[in-house]
Amino acid sequence: MSFADLGLSDELLRAVGDTGYTEPTPIQASAIPPVLMMRDIIGIAQTGTGKTASFVLPMIDILAQGRSRARMPRSLILEPTRELAAQVAENFETYGKYHKLSMALLIGGVQMGDQVKALEKGVDVLIATPGRLMDLFGRGKILLTGCSMLVIDEADRMLDMGFIPDIEEICTKLPAQRQTLLFSATMPAPIKKLADRFLNNPKTIEVARPASTNINITQWVVPVKGPSFEKRKALRALLGQEEVRTAIIFCNRKTTVRELNKSLREHGFSSGEIHGDMDQPARVAELERFKKGDVNILVASDVAARGLDVKGVSHVFNYDAPWHPDDYVHRIGRTGRGGATGVAYTFVGPDDAENIDNIEKLTGQKIARIAEVPAASERTEEAPRRERSGRRRERVVEEAPRVEAREEAPRAQPREEAPRRERTRRDRDERPRGGRERERAPVVVEAADDGGWNGPVPDFLNVGLRY
Ligand code: AMP
Repeated sequence: MSFADLGLSDELLRAVGDTGYTEPTPIQASAIPPVLMMRDIIGIAQTGTGKTASFVLPMIDILAQGRSRARMPRSLILEPTRELAAQVAENFETYGKYHKLSMALLIGGVQMGDQVKALEKGVDVLIATPGRLMDLFGRGKILLTGCSMLVIDEADRMLDMGFIPDIEEICTKLPAQRQTLLFSATMPAPIKKLADRFLNNPKTIEVARPASTNINITQWVVPVKGPSFEKRKALRALLGQEEVRTAIIFCNRKTTVRELNKSLREHGFSSGEIHGDMDQPARVAELERFKKGDVNILVASDVAARGLDVKGVSHVFNYDAPWHPDDYVHRIGRTGRGGATGVAYTFVGPDDAENIDNIEKLTGQKIARIAEVPAASERTEEAPRRERSGRRRERVVEEAPRVEAREEAPRAQPREEAPRRERTRRDRDERPRGGRERERAPVVVEAADDGGWNGPVPDFLNVGLRY
């Protein structure tokens, strides 16, 4: 199938052609035609599947008819984080380059003045995080009665972040006659409830088993017996391998992000950090440094786990095994994107044992344990940026076994669906979920027959990628 089969306008096809993408991804092929027919959609798809374009492309064509009015945006896209909102905006710029649509980004952590000015002029597309939108709404700066299209993206993430009450309120402020698209990697009960209440006869499209990991990612568990300095030592040894070109290192806590980045820098690594305590300009700047290659290591909290679209990340390290098993899938999905291969290491110390158990249950795969972490050795001229102390790292282990194709891997048992506790806005930091909540493991493993985009690498991925 080609993009031309989907019913998109010539201008859009030209913009898509400019990106080098030749074939729609499965979510694009399934979602674009019904969205163009004004259907409501539930898209069960992870980031990395091409889902952003699956709503951005038809939206551009739909919005091409009609005009914006002051303070009344014509469409609204809700994103859980500022980074994701900024990425969707980038998508609009890329695909909308032959259209004259106006767009405003309404996100926390940046000055409100310019955002308000843009809104007052009138915009076709408003991309917002729920908190900032509610703020502005409360000040009477915005009217949602002209909004005939609503996208709720990463709904399960919104749930984790305590945004569902805000979203419900926002939905009631939009006209009843509208088109609503909801995307989520998983469908826990509160999201189903939200969909039942606010979507009208939606078409459900599912492209990948939510709990599945990408088969292009080689996964390792790195057992660590002792305290945190042992983890750091093992991490430094693995980071020193020649093949580690770029890496994202995930930690469960913001304090760990800061401490680890400091420690890595002291050891001469070229690293930066990103977490929820940083203001927006600092986060954007740090991400840019990583994207441009000024630093090749980014230490991150889960705020960066979903949706960050950085090309060519060769390695992901879970310095801590994530508390929530579905975060594992999202974290390691920052590598192996767009058909490339990637490697993910997860450090498992005494505190991580329960978390890795839950991850393996969810993904239905036993992750290979690394036999031995190499000792760091002297640095050579070829690897100058890695370490000031001048130690070169050796290759760690023999070839890692690829994680088996999903079809062969034992599947995690679908679990009874238990409602996630909806975290309040006050809760919305990055602290661990409570023990009881963890036990309830809310993720539902849904089987998909088509394998989605995380199945074997389809041909379309081998061409025209911007790596
Ligand atoms: P997303 O799931 O929207 O975060 O997209 C993941 C990545 O896939 C992004 O780098 C997109 O630019 C890329 N992408 C989107 N559509 C296609 C396509 N049809 N072919 C190849 N890559 C794509």
